[in-house]
Amino acid sequence: MTSLLQQNDPAVFEAIENEVRRQNDGLELIASENFVSREVLQAMGTAFTNKYAEGLPGKRYYGGCQFADVVEDLARDRAKALFKADWVNVQPHSGASANAAVYLATMNPGDTFLGLDLAHGGHLTHGSPVNFSGILYKAEYYGVEKSGPLAGRIDMDRVREKALAIRPRMISIGASAYSRDFDYEAFRAIADEVDALLWLDMAHTAGLIASGVLNDPMDHCHIISTTTHKTLRGPRGGMILIGNDFENPFGKVAPKSGRVKRMSELLDSAVFPGMQGGPLMHVIAGKAVAFAEAGREEFKTYSAQVVKNAAAMAQEFVDRGYEVVSEGTDNHMCLIDLRNKKLTGKEAEAVLGQAEITVNKNMVPFDDQSPFVTSGIRLGTPAMTTRGLVEDDFRRIVSLMDRALMNGDDEAKLAAVRADVFEICQAFPLYDTVLA
Ligand SMILES: *Cc1c(COP(=O)(O)O)cnc(C)c1O
Repeated sequence: MTSLLQQNDPAVFEAIENEVRRQNDGLELIASENFVSREVLQAMGTAFTNKYAEGLPGKRYYGGCQFADVVEDLARDRAKALFKADWVNVQPHSGASANAAVYLATMNPGDTFLGLDLAHGGHLTHGSPVNFSGILYKAEYYGVEKSGPLAGRIDMDRVREKALAIRPRMISIGASAYSRDFDYEAFRAIADEVDALLWLDMAHTAGLIASGVLNDPMDHCHIISTTTHKTLRGPRGGMILIGNDFENPFGKVAPKSGRVKRMSELLDSAVFPGMQGGPLMHVIAGKAVAFAEAGREEFKTYSAQVVKNAAAMAQEFVDRGYEVVSEGTDNHMCLIDLRNKKLTGKEAEAVLGQAEITVNKNMVPFDDQSPFVTSGIRLGTPAMTTRGLVEDDFRRIVSLMDRALMNGDDEAKLAAVRADVFEICQAFPLYDTVLA
């Protein structure tokens, strides 16, 4: 059966078809990616994309929002149940949008915050000089240890020393490339000691937190932001939650009314009209579907498998003489330092790409290469675990990666690896049709 799109816009259809084939036929090891269900795809490909729904359910600036209200309330109620939160905003278009709203709600331009060093696994929105967060606010950093028993890990005594020295308005936790869990209780003690807000950006780990396989931040962090498309396995988007005992200790005064607002009010108005216009209702429909999926028992089993697979993958790399940052992982990803293998991250990404293994080059802590070259690669298990792979499959994948990396200029050997990759992909089918 040919679809309307195939008939009437073959160029776009062909690009979609090729992308679906690429996703089906390769090993997806990018730690920030996942594969959504067909139900999520279907919810997103709907007429909700036509609807303007500025405002919140029951309080919209447009008519005709009765069904937008239904779908956004479903998303909000399911997110609250999933994370045991009292308040959530599901409208941020992305993780970066959610973070922008967090800053807007809590900080004044020029205020200081303390976050994880980008070169040690932090995210661009945690103070990079090329991002609004570094342009508008004063970013200070904590990092991971270079050596000793905590090599590759955060030393909380150092975080405390730094916080006492700079007295930030906000302390942020969260990372794009940190494979260890966070001690939220210790972070909160430090935040309380210096009268700072504690913000967690759980973009990478939200699904694992929802499933209870990582520490629960909700009793300790004031504000929690996230993406919805990484381990949470929903559509591309963002979301903001408030932790359990939040009382707006800072009482930021709203600029117009002069009234001390509750944090939920500040965050709602920071998302809209502060940062965004109309919410993407088709994506919010997809979020509602994904949050229900993430509340099911199968998702808990999935998340536990994601972590087991990452541990097996990291251990296999260690056994093969690779340097794994912090020598292992607590979560869904690991970071490989390739310096002892005389390879850069850029070279490794290219060679693995030739074998249809998709990874991303990544800075490792104390890297001496530029961000365009890097000394490492970042690997994650969420996507391939969705396809059904378990520990032994990941050990096999590491052996394939090792073979590819050690034979980067041998076209025949790379072709052999590619054939094995294809065989694995065939055994774990993904999407059976091009359109949802
Ligand atoms: C991925 C990520 C983001 C940004 O998410 P986008 O949806 O790409 O904007 C923000 N923070 C962290 C820690 C991330 O890993």
